[in-house]
Amino acid sequence: MACRIGIAGISGRMGRLLAEEVVAAGAVLSGGISRAGGAGLLADIGALADASDVVVDFTHAGVASAHARSLAASGKVYVLGTSGLSAADEAVVTAAAQTIPIVYAANFSPGVTLLLALAEQMAAALPAETYDAEIVEMHHRQKVDVPSGTAIALGRAVAAGRGVQLDDVKESGRDGHTGARKTGAIGFSAMRGGQVVGEHTLLFAAANEQIALSHRAFDRRAFASGAIRAALWAVGRTPGLYGMRDVLGIV
Ligand code: NAD
Repeated sequence: MACRIGIAGISGRMGRLLAEEVVAAGAVLSGGISRAGGAGLLADIGALADASDVVVDFTHAGVASAHARSLAASGKVYVLGTSGLSAADEAVVTAAAQTIPIVYAANFSPGVTLLLALAEQMAAALPAETYDAEIVEMHHRQKVDVPSGTAIALGRAVAAGRGVQLDDVKESGRDGHTGARKTGAIGFSAMRGGQVVGEHTLLFAAANEQIALSHRAFDRRAFASGAIRAALWAVGRTPGLYGMRDVLGIV
């Protein structure tokens, strides 16, 4: 029987594309929910989970923990793409992954998934004392969270390569008399404007050279098709918290 995939946030920019990609993948679109509800939509996350084998969630960080609990209670697969989750929200997601397979990724595009792996390798090879890591991103004017989930994922990849915790070395929102840059800091800068789908650059700047990794998304479909690929991959897996690197087999 074809896999039944439900979309949380089906009326959103991502949700509309996700619905199309479900059909393009030969799966069954089991339904959707949105904040405002509406004709043809299911009542809530519980009803969506009941109707689906997998729920793909691109909504708002404020509902991620409630959605994760509901999916765990229903025993269905959960694919989470929402960004801006707090540490407490992420703890709930991690706990839910003891019961169900969850794929949680800040960015479902193959290009960024590879970029994250390269970022970790480069950070391990380039000493923090010499190479200053800076992450620059730009997104459309409607985006509500800063830094972007992908920028944070890049920061975590650099931190992992250096064997440190991102929270201990993160520098974002610089303004005013900040003092000199701290050695080993991972810096974040964000631009917001227009309808930019997503641009990220990771810089390693040293006194004598600079190296940059850049990714530019032209179309949200790169994320939507990746998320549906993740949904189909996750069906039948043992419970656990997976990332897009697991889905694509990138180590
Ligand atoms: P959007 O504002 O266009 O759509 C959000 C959708 O979620 C709407 O359908 C809205 O009705 C629904 N929603 C909001 N609050 C809800 C609630 N309480 N209950 C049920 N539904 C609710 O936003 P978007 O551009 O589609 O992005 C959605 C999320 O996905 C954001 O967090 C964004 O950063 C993230 N995102 C992730 C990736 C990725 O690859 N992981 C890619 C793009 C966007």
